[in-house]
Amino acid sequence: MTTIATQTIKARYDAAIKDAKAAGVNIRQNVRSCCRSCAGYEMANKYEAAGNPEKIERTVWTFGGQGSRISWEWDGTPYYPQDNGWTRRTGKEAVVQYWNFENVEYAQKVYEAFKSHGFEIDWDGSEFKCVVVTLKGGE
Ligand SMILES: [Zn+2]
Repeated sequence: MTTIATQTIKARYDAAIKDAKAAGVNIRQNVRSCCRSCAGYEMANKYEAAGNPEKIERTVWTFGGQGSRISWEWDGTPYYPQDNGWTRRTGKEAVVQYWNFENVEYAQKVYEAFKSHGFEIDWDGSEFKCVVVTLKGGE
């Protein structure tokens, strides 16, 4: 078994995602829409149309628009791949993910999954704030 210190960020990230899914969370990453608000609304409509309206309650997701999409280098380091026109990326900035949710119970599961794999997380446990996971600190 490898320790957290010797694993790549990607390996720890994948393990956290796997744990969250095992805990019953419907993980959606890099959701494409014009904004966070529309993304949540569109997913809820999609699950409703599929006859599975309760699925949105279990959904914890990241927004992939407006330059917030995250990709991975070959060595397991996360980065923002695009220059979105108003934020110029240098590769040296912190890479942060904002996990949105409908139900605080499932946000808690995501929080615990990332915490157990050694990620720095900013979240007050409330329904009003995203679970903010720092994948890579700034240089
Ligand atoms: Zn919108």
